[in-house]
Amino acid sequence: MFSYRHAFHAGNHADVLKHTVLIATLDYLLEKETALTVVDTHAGAGLYRLDGDYAGASGEATQGIMRLLASKGSPGAPEVMAPVLQRYIDTVVGDFNPGKTSARIYPGSPFITHHLLRDHDKLKLFELHPTDWRTLAANIEQLEAGRQIAVLREDGFGSATKFLPPPSRRALVLCDPSYEMKTDYGRVLDFIAEALKRFATGTYAVWYPIIPRPEAHDLPRRLKTMATKAGKPWLNASLTVKSSKILTTPTGESRRPGLPASGMFLVNPPFTLKAQLAEALPQLVAILGQDRNAAFALDAGG
Ligand code: SAM
Repeated sequence: MFSYRHAFHAGNHADVLKHTVLIATLDYLLEKETALTVVDTHAGAGLYRLDGDYAGASGEATQGIMRLLASKGSPGAPEVMAPVLQRYIDTVVGDFNPGKTSARIYPGSPFITHHLLRDHDKLKLFELHPTDWRTLAANIEQLEAGRQIAVLREDGFGSATKFLPPPSRRALVLCDPSYEMKTDYGRVLDFIAEALKRFATGTYAVWYPIIPRPEAHDLPRRLKTMATKAGKPWLNASLTVKSSKILTTPTGESRRPGLPASGMFLVNPPFTLKAQLAEALPQLVAILGQDRNAAFALDAGG
């Protein structure tokens, strides 16, 4: 446990999908004046340096946010970026790297969310990794947000439902585990089931990896069944950037391809989200696709 550090993955293609959906969902929910509580069950460190040792070593942002930024004006790139993608770029680059066209600082979900929230909204952050929790707490302290933000070194699966329903009865819950342990898949399902029981009208957003493992394959299908049985609308969006086949190097060694695809499953999504993603996902395939397996899927129901 705890070998996962999001700093290696910040700004990769999965973050591009996840944070585009997060920003679009927050923009919609923040149209109403009533206070919103955002619960981030797996918060990470909050802020990342893309020119630092971790991100530099993995190079994942090069195939994610950097590729999206570099695509502007390049052959095959869309002439006009889909509004939700432009909004994502403006937020993570423009607002966190003022005056720059490239991203040196990459904001994780806690910073993106706090940046968009209003003073009367609340943010509850859960992070268990001792180092990332310390970094997160120190990063958040600099915001001087006082009681608006709570940083908890607790199990997000086990404790986050204590904030549901919030007093204003409006909440977005982001559930973004590392899936380091295969029990995480079952814990996501139990967590969403419990959360829906407590607060059926909340908006829930679950990120999941698409990898050749039965639990991963089953997760969106089981979330869909859960939402349908609860009579709640849902949306499932996924982005594949490359094949999941194990590669053989010229010297005959086997090499895993790295994360080939991921998805976002939402219960009670904004009704505007499907049309926004229908425009954005084909552009992400064109820009972030690494081989002919690149594809997207977008499905909704309820
Ligand atoms: N949500 C972040 C973002 O978008 O910037 C990234 C989160 S990262 C994918 C998952 C994080 O969950 C890791 O930092 C990991 O240490 C933490 N974690 C793992 N198990 C946890 C648990 N049971 N409760 C809370 N945090 C956990």
